[in-house]
Amino acid sequence: MSPNRQRRGRLWLSLLVALVALSVAPASAARRAPPVADITIGRSAEGRPITALRIGNGPRKLVLVGATHGGPEANTYRLMLDLAAHLRAAPDEVPPEVRLYLIPTLNPDGLALDTRFNARGVDLNRNMNTGLDACPENDWSKTVNGAYGIVSDTGGPAPESEVESRLIRTFLLDASAAIFYHSAGGELFPPFCEHTPSLALAQRYAEVAGYTYTRYYPRYMITGGMHDWAGSLGIASFTPELWTGEGSDTDENHAALHAILAEATALLPLPEDQRVGAYSLPAPIWRFWRSNGGAERLGNPIGPARTAEGRIVQPFMRAAVMVDPARVDTPEFVSLEALGERARALLTPTPSMVLSTEVAEYASLFSAAAVEFGGEALLGERLGTPEPSISVSDGSPRIVQYFANARLELDPTATPPTVVLSPLGWYDQQLHLVTDPSFTHQIR
Ligand SMILES: [Zn+2]
Repeated sequence: MSPNRQRRGRLWLSLLVALVALSVAPASAARRAPPVADITIGRSAEGRPITALRIGNGPRKLVLVGATHGGPEANTYRLMLDLAAHLRAAPDEVPPEVRLYLIPTLNPDGLALDTRFNARGVDLNRNMNTGLDACPENDWSKTVNGAYGIVSDTGGPAPESEVESRLIRTFLLDASAAIFYHSAGGELFPPFCEHTPSLALAQRYAEVAGYTYTRYYPRYMITGGMHDWAGSLGIASFTPELWTGEGSDTDENHAALHAILAEATALLPLPEDQRVGAYSLPAPIWRFWRSNGGAERLGNPIGPARTAEGRIVQPFMRAAVMVDPARVDTPEFVSLEALGERARALLTPTPSMVLSTEVAEYASLFSAAAVEFGGEALLGERLGTPEPSISVSDGSPRIVQYFANARLELDPTATPPTVVLSPLGWYDQQLHLVTDPSFTHQIR
């Protein structure tokens, strides 16, 4: 292996070291009590805070999520509060290699309104994009099986259409493992599609907690489930169902958590960098890319990841994905670089570019595509309405719309006219090649 490849393979590990250094009090030779912090990871559809208790600063992030199903499963919320109260008093139970997060509820609206759904009537545990694994059976569907096998259209208008779904998706980009607590039934199951670390973790937890380990949820097929989504990104995951809808099973779950923490190195896999084509993608960047449309939408990687101003930037054909260690545990931890803004400043349309076509007739195509491609949360601030411009690769006419991080474009001569993301990652790389002779991947 060349020294260069070795360096790339260690990129994510070196980021972890930076993360740990940022998130904690000064290190000392003797082990101090793990730091404890209350954080807010975002807000629900009705604006209620979604909070977490964080204990420890190790590289293995273990996330416990309660009450995704709101009021009817409020005992899982009480379980999280019980565990949190206990661990606040005894943070030493979290070993140095772990960062533990307890999220009492991912669905504060459903808890307040006493419903299984979020405030928009969507079942959050049926709303994830579960089309990333090799099993079609569990793929997201609008029509879902719910509590007691009742079939309803509560999967949401689209995968990860809900703000709560997108928050947990982002929060787990650097996670080793995630446990999603539900009730009732006294059983525990890993992702439907094969993921070995999930099976090992689930079996150990079941053994100690006394829940029945079942390889497949026995009652019906769960589509769009959080554990299935997590497993598909290499996050060890499973779903325990507490024994009843009332008791919080605190002692059983505390004992099982203890067992997991004691075997953290074996049971909580570090997020792994992934090779795509010629390049090794740092784990959170690979997960972000997979979760946001992958090669089809953002294009393939076109160069190695590079570090710039304390961030890691990975260029893709149509965007550049950036990790900012200073923003760990926030929705801005992984985002797109502002390539749209940069391209717009460089590509001022001239009168010769103006097309005979009516730009306005494509307005609805652009607004639909903007939503489908992740809206302003992903694309960044909208910088204008559709306008005539040119292709950055061959100069032919395009209708485009700029966002801070990307540009939507349409070739009016194509049939049918289809909105795609412009290859701004590629364009940005070309600009670097011209202006910066020391740039990592200059043409030799
Ligand atoms: Zn549930």
